[in-house]
Amino acid sequence: MTIPPKPIRIAIVLNGQEFICQPVMLPFSLEGYPSVDLVLYGRQPEAPAPGLTVNPLPDLSPEGFDLILDGQFLTAGLADFSPDRLDNLVTGPAARCLKTLVCQLQELRQKQEINSGIIMNAADALITINSGHVIIGYNQGAEQMFGYTRTEALGQDLKLILPPPVKAVHGDYLKRYLATREPHVLGRQRRLTARRRDGQEFPLSISFSVAEIQGNLYFTAIMRDITEYKAMEDRVLQSERLAAVGNTVDHIAHEIKNPLLIIGGFAQQLIKAPGFDDPARRKLSIIAEEVSHLEEMVAEMRDFVRPPPTQKRQGQIMAVVEEALELFQDTFREHHIQVRRVEETPLPPVAFDPKQVRQVLINLLKNALEAMPQGGEITITSRVKGANAEISVSDTGAGLVPEVADNIFQPYFTTKEKGTGLGLAICQNIIAEHGGCLFADSPPGRGATFTIQLPIEETSPAAGASSLEENRR
Ligand code: ADP
Repeated sequence: MTIPPKPIRIAIVLNGQEFICQPVMLPFSLEGYPSVDLVLYGRQPEAPAPGLTVNPLPDLSPEGFDLILDGQFLTAGLADFSPDRLDNLVTGPAARCLKTLVCQLQELRQKQEINSGIIMNAADALITINSGHVIIGYNQGAEQMFGYTRTEALGQDLKLILPPPVKAVHGDYLKRYLATREPHVLGRQRRLTARRRDGQEFPLSISFSVAEIQGNLYFTAIMRDITEYKAMEDRVLQSERLAAVGNTVDHIAHEIKNPLLIIGGFAQQLIKAPGFDDPARRKLSIIAEEVSHLEEMVAEMRDFVRPPPTQKRQGQIMAVVEEALELFQDTFREHHIQVRRVEETPLPPVAFDPKQVRQVLINLLKNALEAMPQGGEITITSRVKGANAEISVSDTGAGLVPEVADNIFQPYFTTKEKGTGLGLAICQNIIAEHGGCLFADSPPGRGATFTIQLPIEETSPAAGASSLEENRR
């Protein structure tokens, strides 16, 4: 970063008397310090020339200097320097003093540049406030995190970036620290909710430090946006919870599977047995239906919590699509549903588990059927897209409203009276296990489309041979 030159004011003190000279240009200036004063202490070698208050700078014998930045004493030097630079600035004995000063300033500037480079470019946000709660340091990380530019933030009260609950009390925390010097939060890592310029709140981790410089206290906060980390943490927590739920579900499913089988079996037998009137038979059919629904639910729950291992092999996925469609043939006819096939591009063989992919297709077709109680059309579209084989199942039902679309793949999300909400979650897991993805699209008024993408893998000759063998078997 190039800092433009800036004049410094030089005061010369001779025999305890102070004289102010012309401003002197230094080849640089220090960012953030508007006023730089240099006090030179020296002796006049001889009486001042008549009419002059002070001898010209080159004639002065310097004894030392103080450097005062922004009214604060910063550094001092002694007049014991070798004069070899900056001859164009001043000459003679006073030059020595000035040269050393310039060297020191340059060193200081370099250190400052390194430090401010580190601070400015840090990915973490660094904000420094003074004891008046005013922002005096604000790096790029803070600009990105909070959305205020450095120019907008510097000189503002820290309240600018504090969310409401903290805003009300933060000034008091500072006052308490200034009064008691008891560090409650200093040096500790904490989590807070902060607020961006656009009002969006986000979690951050924050640590504080304090520095005392010439009696003034400066507080620096180092902040890291932990939105992603928090999301990951939540996912881990969620998967731990799901694992626990999974064990319970697995256990319950195992325990109730056999009793359900027995109840369902007996109900079926009794329906066929003589001696029951119609109302009794109707009740028995309801029992049998409900039991079979429960059995389905239990099976889905087990599939979800304990999915069977995926056994992929190369094959024609459209063959599985046809198998699934065949299962629904009669039902579709009964429900006035037409099926249309659109082959945009022929699909090459892909590696997949036929049983699992059939399960996915059955689920998508069942959902499409349920979405069109008055009948409609199902379109199966196949195409190659990039490195994937794509199969879409579109219906002409009511489609997905945004609140539903956002949740359909969440386990146990259902809008159906007797739904489990597990079908699409299981389908998504299955397709993910294949290295592909399943997604939904629902343009307003045009039903819903569910698309399966499966990667087309390069088949090695050996893999090709083994899949041929498997197909033959
Ligand atoms: P379930 O069918 O047991 O509800 P799913 O996971 O298969 O469970 O589906 C979740 C929800 O997604 C359904 O309850 C429904 O609201 C919505 N949904 C799924 N497929 C469609 C579709 N083709 N059209 C409209 N909504 C659908």
